[in-house]
Amino acid sequence: MKNSQILIFTDLDGSLLNHNNFEFKEIKNFILNCIKNGIKIIPNTSKTKSEIQVFLDQLGQNLPFIVENGAAIHNLDLVHPKFKFKNNSLVFSRSISEILELFEKSMPIDFQKRCLFLKDMKSIEQMKILGLNKKYLPFALNRDYSMPLVFDGSKELVSEFTCLLKKIGMKLHEGGRIYNICDDCSKGKAMTTLTEKLKNEFNTNSHTIVIGDSPNDISMLNVSDQPCIIPLPNKKNLCHLKDKKIIRATQSAPQGWEEVVRVSLKKINFELEG
Ligand SMILES: [Mg+2]
Repeated sequence: MKNSQILIFTDLDGSLLNHNNFEFKEIKNFILNCIKNGIKIIPNTSKTKSEIQVFLDQLGQNLPFIVENGAAIHNLDLVHPKFKFKNNSLVFSRSISEILELFEKSMPIDFQKRCLFLKDMKSIEQMKILGLNKKYLPFALNRDYSMPLVFDGSKELVSEFTCLLKKIGMKLHEGGRIYNICDDCSKGKAMTTLTEKLKNEFNTNSHTIVIGDSPNDISMLNVSDQPCIIPLPNKKNLCHLKDKKIIRATQSAPQGWEEVVRVSLKKINFELEG
C-alpha cells in the first residue's frame, strides 16, 4: 500500500453530511486529520459547485471535487500538482440549456408532463423538497449541468422514463431526496477518468475508498477498491447490493462516515497519526 495514493471519493448528503440538517461538525477533526495524513478526499456529489464551496468553507480546506453527478471535476491541481487543465477542471457534460433543449424536443409529452422541475416551483416548495432554508436554496438551484425534478408516476414509469432518457443520450439519477436529469455522465465515470489519468500520466496507483448512500452512488461504489455504504435514518437504502467487499456503517452520517473510513484504513493496515 506504501506506493499507492489513498483517495476517498465521497458523496456528501446522507453520506458525510447528516441527511436532515447537513451538519458534519462531529467528524470535522477526523476529516482534517485524514487530509493531514496525506489521504485525498474528493467529494463526488449531485451538489453544485456553489453548494460544495459552502461545505469547503465550513471545513476550512480547499479540496478537489466532482459536481452534479459526474458532470465536471474541479481543482485538479489538488489531486496532482502537475495536472494542467483549462480552468483547472475537466468537463464531461453538455450545458444545462443544451440538455433542456434536447429534452423538450425528444421526450414524449406525456413523460414531460410527469416531470415537476424544481426550477418551475415556488421557493417554499423547493425548500421543502430539498430540506434547505432560504440562505442555501440559491446555491442548490444554481446548476450548470443537471435538472432536479420530482417525478409523478410509479416505479415502472420511472424505469420507462430512464430508458427513454438513455435513448436520447441522457441519464436519470436518483439521490436521497430527488431525481436529476443529467447528460450521459456518472459519478463512477468521472472517478475512473481521474484515477486513470493519475496512472497514465504520473504512474500513480490509487487505492480508492468510495462512500455513498443512494442509487446515484452505485456507479462509483462499483468501481472502487473499497465500497462503503452509510444507512439513511428514514428509509432502507442500497440493501440489494451484496458484494462481500462492502463495508456498511452501523450509524448514519456523519458518524457513519468516520466509522467506515476507520474500518477501510484498518483493512489496508494504514495507521492514522495524530
Ligand atoms: Mg447522498
